[in-house]
Parts: sequence; C-alpha cells; structure tokens
Amino acid sequence: MKLLEERIKKDGTVRDGNVLKVDNFLNHQMDMELFQEMGKEWKKLFADKPINKILTIEASGIAIAAIAAQYFDVPVVFAKKAQSINIAGEVYQTKIESFTHKRTYDVIVSKKFIGPEDHILIIDDFLANGCALLGLIDIVEQAGATIEGIGIAIEKGFQQGGKIIRDKGYDLQSLAIIDSMNENKVVFREQ
Ligand code: 5GP
Repeated sequence: MKLLEERIKKDGTVRDGNVLKVDNFLNHQMDMELFQEMGKEWKKLFADKPINKILTIEASGIAIAAIAAQYFDVPVVFAKKAQSINIAGEVYQTKIESFTHKRTYDVIVSKKFIGPEDHILIIDDFLANGCALLGLIDIVEQAGATIEGIGIAIEKGFQQGGKIIRDKGYDLQSLAIIDSMNENKVVFREQ
C-alpha cells in the first residue's frame, strides 16, 4: 500500500535491534485518515471472506482493528496481556514472547467472545518473528473458530514470521513489507 510505504519513509525511524519506530502515526500518535485507508484496503483484500469478528492484541493492535472493523461491520475482540492467571476455565490462554520488550506474556481471551461459529480476521500492527500471530492463532484454534485471514500493517520481511505463517497456509496480507532497513533507507517488497 503506497500510502503506508510513503508514510514509513517520511516518518519512520530505524532503531538498534531492527526496531522500526512509527510512533508518529501508528502506535503512539495515531493518524486516523491513514487507519481508514488501511481498513478500506483490508476490506478489499478480504472482500470474499465471510468474516464476522476481528481479533487483535493489546495495545497497539486495538486502534487499527477498531477502524478496520467499521468497514467489515463486525465487533473487535482484543487479547489481553495478563499478569497472573486465576480464572482458568473461563478463558483461552496462550503465551507470547514479545519482540520489542524481550519478555513472555500470558495472553487471554474470554470464552464468551470467540466460539466454533466464528469466522475470524486477525489484525495486528507488526509482523516480525511471528510470535504474536502464532499466539492469536493458538487462541482461535482452542476456540474451534475459523481463521479467514490475517491483516498486518507492517511486515518486516527479513524476519521469519511471514514465511512461518504463509507456510501454514494462512491468507496473510501485509500492507507494507520491508525487505531491508537501516538508518538511511527502508526498502519495500514489490507487491
Ligand atoms: P512478532 O511477535 O511477530 O515477533 O512481533 C510482533 C509484535 O512485536 C507486534 O505486535 C509489535 O507490537 C511488536 N514489534 C515487532 N517488531 C516491531 C518493530 O520493528 N517496531 C515496533 N514498533 N513494534 C514491533
């Protein structure tokens, strides 16, 4: 998606450890017009899928998922990062290793909000090593729901997540895929 690529070039900064900072428009200050265009794009890409719910993970997935949901006309469920789990039985739970924070979170979703009848679109801001997505996929599988597709804003194509997820057969649509990046230059994959 050209608009997102141009914005990354203009406002993104590359930090040590292969971290792209997009605080200016995506995950601190948030550009709602850009989010709307991203939502429209995912709606086009998944137009033929019978999606009835969007699943994301807190915190930075929530806003993009919420805006996207307006184009799908479906509710959003977000997985919560839980400190301690003492409500076993009422929630699906999984573990996710955070790329940016280098720690492991227990993540939960209430069984009230996803079940076998659901057709899910998973949305998140970044795809790096794939841990966040694999955790969300695990939760959907525990629920017996169907994954209709996965929408990512920025995929770091030089990390392994995209290959892992596509090799599993999921319809993964990333709006911008970065093939390489350093302080001076970000190179995008032709799509
Ligand atoms: P993964 O689990 O695929 O390794 O990483 C995905 C998660 O890590 C995303 O939900 C995102 O919050 C965070 N993340 C991964 N790489 C980056 C990055 O380069 N910049 C930012 N801002 N977040 C990242």
